[in-house]
Amino acid sequence: MTAQPESARFLIVGPQGSGKGTQGVVVAQAFGVPAVSTGDVFRANIAGDTELGKQVKSIVEAGDLVPDELTSALVRDRLEQADAAPGFLLDGYPRNLGQVADLDAFLVSRSEALDAVIELSVPREESIARLRKRAVDQGRSDDTEEVIENRLAIYEKETAPILGVYRERGLVLEIDGLGTLDEVTARIFAALAERGLVPAAAPAE
Ligand code: AMP
Repeated sequence: MTAQPESARFLIVGPQGSGKGTQGVVVAQAFGVPAVSTGDVFRANIAGDTELGKQVKSIVEAGDLVPDELTSALVRDRLEQADAAPGFLLDGYPRNLGQVADLDAFLVSRSEALDAVIELSVPREESIARLRKRAVDQGRSDDTEEVIENRLAIYEKETAPILGVYRERGLVLEIDGLGTLDEVTARIFAALAERGLVPAAAPAE
């Protein structure tokens, strides 16, 4: 028998187009914790033309990273909300080593710790192909050819190194992101279960 985990604090990390947004929502729902996507928060603010949206619009549209202070403050505010007390799944944060330090400081101040970091791997060509398809399907303004290249370059330079840090802490679950949505989901749940991280109710088939 596997006991239900006391907390479910997860990160999902992978290049744009790896399917991390979709998989993140599935995992978060199964564990009953909020999925927090910094990209979604920025996009919603841009669409709503809020102060934050105005501040970040040109940065997001160029595929560059929003400054750490702004991003980390936004994540802290979100994680302080009551629904994130039992856990959370962060999608797209931390994105560089500075944000790893910010998240560490926040969690330490609350005597909390991450339970797992889900790394979704897909080859570069596959990421690009998926992003091109999404550009057509969803018309995202940061899915243009030039911006896609910039975002993947930033991922490789700034974001990939955070996995080294979490790997040293023994937190990384390496998941092959190729295959159908259901196949990838099954791999994630199997890898979490190996760590004793099992949702209270099995995810719906
Ligand atoms: P995503 O949907 O995760 O690909 O994020 C879309 C865009 O939002 C990124 O290209 C960045 O401009 C911005 N963004 C999202 N998360 C972060 C983060 N953790 N740090 C800085 N910028 C971010």
